[in-house]
Formats: sequence, structure tokens, C-alpha cells
Amino acid sequence: MSTPRVEVAVVGGGIAGVSAAAQISSTHSVVLLEQEAELAYHTTSRSAAVYIENEGGPVFHRLSTASRPFWDSSPGSETPLVTPMPVLSVGDASMGADLQAEVDEASQVTPSIRFVEGAELLELCPVLNPEVVAAGMLEDTAGSIDVMGTHQLFLRTARQGGADVWRSAKLTSAVRNGGLWEIQTEAGPLQAEVIINAGGAWGDTVAERCGVQPIGLAPKRRTAFTSPIGQDPTGWPFIYSGIADMECYFKAEAGQQLLCSLSDEAPSDPCDAKPEELDIALAIERINTISTLGIRSVATTWAGLRTFAPDRNPVFGWDDTADGFVWMVGQGGCGIVTSPIAGEIAASFVRGDPLPQRVTELGLTAEQLAPRR
Ligand SMILES: Cc1cc2nc3c(=O)[nH]c(=O)nc-3n(C[C@H](O)[C@H](O)[C@H](O)COP(=O)(O)OP(=O)(O)OC[C@H]3O[C@@H](n4cnc5c(N)ncnc54)[C@H](O)[C@@H]3O)c2cc1C
Repeated sequence: MSTPRVEVAVVGGGIAGVSAAAQISSTHSVVLLEQEAELAYHTTSRSAAVYIENEGGPVFHRLSTASRPFWDSSPGSETPLVTPMPVLSVGDASMGADLQAEVDEASQVTPSIRFVEGAELLELCPVLNPEVVAAGMLEDTAGSIDVMGTHQLFLRTARQGGADVWRSAKLTSAVRNGGLWEIQTEAGPLQAEVIINAGGAWGDTVAERCGVQPIGLAPKRRTAFTSPIGQDPTGWPFIYSGIADMECYFKAEAGQQLLCSLSDEAPSDPCDAKPEELDIALAIERINTISTLGIRSVATTWAGLRTFAPDRNPVFGWDDTADGFVWMVGQGGCGIVTSPIAGEIAASFVRGDPLPQRVTELGLTAEQLAPRR
């Protein structure tokens, strides 16, 4: 049997890989390779599912803003993919000026972001502890994302475009030969003109398997859990505490529960990340300090790897040391929010187009996103 041949092999079946496949399959033949038996098994299914524009620094902020039209209209989905839920970043009495400065900066991209203090903090979230929390930054255009609905939508779009999905198909090696990648996978060989590396925490490993120099990606574990709270948190904003030694967040979930995390960033090798009990205990202690919740128990726990480039900005672009190799990695804590524009950016490279106008209009350049910037 002859080796299957396509124009583009996308490595990774997380949100990044399927967003790329959805866009590219309308113009190119695509195979999506996923090493696991199921797609979205790793970081994508382990997020807090929050849509925040002002997160991860100015580059991510702009990519999130460029993704906004997709989230506002959820094209191709029968139900909205984002449910409105404001985000309130809180600080103590010493942080008012810093939060105001962040509001001034962030509101240039998202004008509705504003400073909050005093009684309004408790009006927004009645369980905040007024003895600790004194100021806040409110992004009231934020929301809660249906992550798996979004992943399914991208996957469906990719399939409708003719993309083939290979599960249990780890890319084990690839060699460039006569303008083609000769790829070996655990599901058989494949030839492709272009490889898109959407391998998440394994981004550098995928590159090395293709003989391409790694770029220094750093996966960082974050533990999350749900806790029953015996009251209905519907309508509360997502609360993020940036108070020193009090960093944590919580988010309302169905069934009188909260999704909670310490906002931890523990260095990790690429792996099937497992939750850390100590991080859960510390998160409970902190949440019980910034709030009057008195959390005592935990329902479910999990962990995922948020993967960062050395400068913590995302990486999109052709590798200038290897022919036919596109990077799509380093999504850190914003890979879900930015996935709509990420797929369009990956497609623009494959098609030889400039970056999408929504990205350049916000002042971003291909150089800022390039792998070896
Ligand atoms: C606790 C937590 C909370 C978060 N909260 C948010 C949030 O609120 N909002 C937000 O936008 N983001 C959030 N994130 C970040 C977000 O989840 C990630 O940025 C995003 O999921 C990254 O997607 P990905 O497709 O790059 O990675 P992944 O989902 O990990 O996908 C990469 C895939 O590549 C596959 N792969 C690797 N090597 C190979 C190979 N050799 N061959 C074939 N396949 C391979 C892997 O198996 C994996 O499935 C959070 C993350 C965590 C852990």
C-alpha cells in the first residue's frame, strides 16, 4: 500500500490543532495526528474555561480581542459558546494604584475594563472578605467558555473540509526529503508538505523528533478542583486574587460548587499532569482568607500543563532553520480564548497570506510571534 500524502500534517489534537485544521482544511488536504486515543485529553480539557481579554500580557490581550468576534457570534454553533460572567481581579489596600495603572493600560484595548472599590466589591461578589479585599479591576465583557463545544465545532468544521483525524498516532520521527516530510507515526507512515507543530507541552519534543531545534518551551503544572459551598454562586464574577502570597481564583459552577485554583505554576516535563494535594490545601486556605466562604471539602481534582515560550508570549510562524515547519505553541493560560484567531493565523502562514487584518490592526506583527524572535 502506498504511503498517504497530504499537504498539511497538524500534530496535536488539542484546541490549537483542531483550530488550525478547521481553517486550513477549506483550502488544503489535512491529516490531524493525536498521540492519545482521544482528542483534547491533555491541557485543553483541563482549563478553567474563562474568557478574559486582559490576560497574559499585551500580546495575548490583543489575540484575545481579535478572537472576540468569534465568541460573540459563535458561528456554526447552535448555542452560544460563551456565557457572560464578569472577571474581577482583586487586591488589598496597598494595590489600588497598581490596579488603577493596569486599568489605564488594559482599557486602551478593552475600553469597558474599569477600577472598582468600596461597597461595589461586595455588591459584585457578596462573599469577598472586606477586611482583606479593598480594590479591583472589573472586565464585565468576560465569560465562561464551552470548551468542549468549541473543540467539537472546530473538529466538525475540519472534517467537513475533508480533514482526516488519526488517533493513537504519535509522531515518532519525521525527515525532510525532496520538499516533503516523511513522517513516521504509531498509526503508520504519512507524507506531508508542511508540519504544523501544535503539540502543546510536547512542542519542543515534536520539533526534536523532526530534527528541528527546540525553542525552550516550559510546561508549568496548574492544579484545579471543585468544592461544594452550600449556596448558589450564580451571578458571581470570576474572582482572581493577585494579593501577594494570596494568589488564587474561584469561579461559579453548577450544583452549588466553585471551580478553584492556587494559580500555581510548577515546572514540569511534558506528561499526563496530576493534581498536587499541597496546592489544593493552600488554595483553600487562601480562598478562605480573601472570602467568607469557609470551604472545607473538595469534590473533583485535576491538573494540566500551561506551556510558555521563554518570553511568555505565544509562538506562531515558520521555522527559519527548517523547511516546511510551522510552530503553533506557547499558548500558556490563554490557548482557549485565543484559539479562534490562532487557527486563522496558522492558516495564513500555510496559504502564504499576511496575518489576519484583525491582528495587524491591533498592532501585532509576524516578528512578534515568530519562533526565533
Ligand atoms: C488549570 C488550567 C486552567 C486554564 N484556564 C484557561 C482559561 O480559563 N482560558 C484559556 O484560554 N486557557 C486556559 N488554560 C490554558 C489552555 O487550557 C491551554 O492554553 C490550551 O488548552 C493549550 O492547547 P493546546 O492544543 O496547545 O495543548 P493540548 O490540549 O495539550 O494539546 C496538545 C496535543 O498534542 C498532542 N501531542 C503531543 N505530542 C504529540 C506527538 N508526537 N504526536 C501526536 N500528538 C502529540 C498531545 O497528546 C495533546 O493532545 C488553562 C490551563 C490549565 C491547566
